Amino acid sequence: MKENQAVVLVKRPVGDATPDCFELQQQPVSPLADGQIRVAVEYISVDAGTRTMLQGEGFHRQVALGGVVLAGGVGRIIESKADGWQVGQAVRGPLGAQTVATLKPDFLEVVEDSYGALSVHLGLLGGSTGITAWIGMQAVAKVAPGDVFVVSAAAGAVGCVAGQLAKRAGAKVIGIAGGARKTSYLVETLGFDAAIDYKGTDVAAALRETAPEGVDIFFDNVGGAILDTVLDQLAMRAKVVICGAVSQYGHMDKVEGPSMYLRLAERQATMEGFAYFHFPELIPVARKALSDSLKAGEIQMPEEILSGIERYPEALSFMFSGGNLGKLMVQVK
Ligand code: NAP
Repeated sequence: MKENQAVVLVKRPVGDATPDCFELQQQPVSPLADGQIRVAVEYISVDAGTRTMLQGEGFHRQVALGGVVLAGGVGRIIESKADGWQVGQAVRGPLGAQTVATLKPDFLEVVEDSYGALSVHLGLLGGSTGITAWIGMQAVAKVAPGDVFVVSAAAGAVGCVAGQLAKRAGAKVIGIAGGARKTSYLVETLGFDAAIDYKGTDVAAALRETAPEGVDIFFDNVGGAILDTVLDQLAMRAKVVICGAVSQYGHMDKVEGPSMYLRLAERQATMEGFAYFHFPELIPVARKALSDSLKAGEIQMPEEILSGIERYPEALSFMFSGGNLGKLMVQVK
């Protein structure tokens, strides 16, 4: 029987989640209990929100010290003692940062095998990725043709889908991202109207130039200074969608709130946050819409894949230094 290799949290990070906070441990695989299945994990999702789960107090859930890092994954059933779950089926769910997951399939779902690599089920069709962007756009942002739409972490997994959906809804789309590789990709490959490199440009000046009438909708993934800068440039009756705040996840006990929030009053603007799992009824609708768009070649999700379970800690650091373009994953085999 296969041995499991698991990424275990051995130290709670202070600031950056550095690789010394994790250990790769070999774990024996125990016999299956009734109702359990065993999955050979193929891809592990690397998510910005995972950083919050490594703290003493998790934003969503908490990874235990000495516990396997919580992560979404996709893989294939290799053993089953659960009715209706068969060896060979491809499944997605909370498999954890490990090579072999042994669990009750309560939170798992069978996924289509017809896309080539299973990675698409964590990328465009993944809950914390394409589905989040689709639900945030459809249920919260509600973009109208002609809107000036700005998205931060625009070349990341959620951001690049939100921007493409805004473009298809007829908005003028401006992405904020770090570095020329990302800004060129957004404009040249995804067809954004403009992209601002926040690492090398004065974002306020660039926004004044690209959105002289102000920003109608800001889909924010970053928070902190970028949120303040965009708040200062809102149009009348603008909407700010709080999808996430990746710049704050390293110090959740001391989040820097927006100092420009009075612009909401001045511009009669609103700010609304969301989590995709608050809209369970929309998840299948989103998945079908994204899958149709993917098959029709109307949407793209670049994937950045690091190979080898031992690279999971490196992948988290890579994300927080802005390395990834599109969906970041670790491939197990
Ligand atoms: P991602 O966008 O693929 O990767 C994160 C990106 O954030 C990095 O590539 C980097 O891009 C940027 N970044 C990292 N540290 C930063 C910092 N200190 N300041 C500014 N930018 C920084 O990650 P993701 O998993 O798709 O998550 C994107 C956002 O969506 C996160 O805020 C996440 O929490 C949120 N989210 C929300 C929900 C929901 O239901 N509301 C669900 C899933 C994810 P640059 O090179 O551009 O800096």
